[in-house]
Amino acid sequence: MKDLATELQQRKSEGLYRSRRITESAQSTEIIIDGKKLLNFCSNDYLALANHPDIKQAMKKGLDQYGTGSGSAHLISGHSRAHHALEEELADFTGYPRALLFSTGYMANSGIAQSLCGQGDGIFEDRLNHASLLDGALLSGARLQRYGHLDIDDLNSKLAASKKQEKLVMTDAVFSMDGDIAPVGELAETCHQHQAWLMIDDAHGFGTLGKQGRGTLEQLNVSPAEVPIYMATLGKAAGTAGAFVAGSEDLIEYLIQHARSYVYTTAMPPALAEASRASLKIIQHESWRREQLQSLIKRFRSGAQQLGLQLMHSATAIQPIVTGDSQQAIRVSEQLLDKNILISAIRPPTVPNGSARLRITLSAAHTEQQIDQLLNELEKIFSTT
Ligand SMILES: *Cc1c(COP(=O)(O)O)cnc(C)c1O
Repeated sequence: MKDLATELQQRKSEGLYRSRRITESAQSTEIIIDGKKLLNFCSNDYLALANHPDIKQAMKKGLDQYGTGSGSAHLISGHSRAHHALEEELADFTGYPRALLFSTGYMANSGIAQSLCGQGDGIFEDRLNHASLLDGALLSGARLQRYGHLDIDDLNSKLAASKKQEKLVMTDAVFSMDGDIAPVGELAETCHQHQAWLMIDDAHGFGTLGKQGRGTLEQLNVSPAEVPIYMATLGKAAGTAGAFVAGSEDLIEYLIQHARSYVYTTAMPPALAEASRASLKIIQHESWRREQLQSLIKRFRSGAQQLGLQLMHSATAIQPIVTGDSQQAIRVSEQLLDKNILISAIRPPTVPNGSARLRITLSAAHTEQQIDQLLNELEKIFSTT
């Protein structure tokens, strides 16, 4: 048996120990943690919908109508009118024939990989993909090959060399720890040439990108017809919880038959589906949220550049500052906390070794003054380290 205490102690000494803070308020640009009011720059609530009155009202109404629990899996008796309506609205919104709800994005990704691929098949993933995509591939039993970040040539040669029966390419659309965007049009072309499936995970693009918030495909002007599998989550910009996969009639029916993370789990509460329906309406109709977010991103980037901070190639709400060293990332995060600013230090294995970072995320509800306050504190900290 391994010595857990020693291993935990070693993690601490490497600056890799993780611990939780206790939040005592709703998500917002200001949150109460351990009794202290903090300026929040580490939430994925990009459009400030996680505590929106209309969405809460829809959820309350859903609770009155359906109660709290769905009672069973979708294929037994848990698939409510609310779930079904949300699926239809998500399909409409994303421009796909059908959509299928999953309880979490993690489960959607494992369901896709495991349904389409097994032993004898090949899954190809960008080196910086989210852990849920990697885990999905491992669970499927297919051979997992990772290609260089955004490196179409590398993918191309790996696909060309592969003799696998089914080939599935999976990628973050917006990379969760870097904020850059995959070249989806070129990926689609490459996949088409090699008769490989293409799946994109738009957890961070859905709601925030594109004029109408349809996500990365709208932003890059790529037709849904070119990307057979589209997945996005509802716990980030949409401010609720859960995830969905959009695709053809046959893809969705196939997932309903085969995706174990769909079949063998209780359906999300119907009231939550009602909340997501209300959120989808706001995403569609309030483009000012995306405009506001974009203008704050520009303000942050130009301010940070003036300070000589090393930014990443990101035009999205994810604006990391890489420190490299894990201990330094923690130190900066703690110094910011002393100034009542909350930004978490992201360390390996979430990011590659030697690329620890402060993952700053912006929200449409931040004010220009709050952005300037952050820049001010960053200036003080980085000029003395
Ligand atoms: C957050 C995230 C997920 C997981 O979604 P959950 O609904 O939180 O399980 C999957 N993929 C990416 C890229 C993510 O950022």
